[in-house]
Amino acid sequence: MMELRPNCECCDRDLAPDAPALICTFECTFCPDCAHDVLGGICPNCGGNFARRPVRPPAMLAKYPASTKRVLKQGGCAA
Ligand SMILES: [Zn+2]
Ligand SMILES: [Zn+2]
Repeated sequence: MMELRPNCECCDRDLAPDAPALICTFECTFCPDCAHDVLGGICPNCGGNFARRPVRPPAMLAKYPASTKRVLKQGGCAA
């Protein structure tokens, strides 16, 4: 099951479960601004590409809540 992480790993912005967010295959999670403008569409952790994070329907979100564990890249992720 996807974690649905609560923040952008670059800028630590809050990302609600239904907010636009981009993830890589390992579910490294970024806001659209960082994913496009800072990272150029490439995950800084694994080198993979991003896909739009799917939105979990509210009833499922109540049953299977999103992660509350914030993940932040050490040292930021600007080159
Ligand atoms: Zn960001
Ligand atoms: Zn990654």
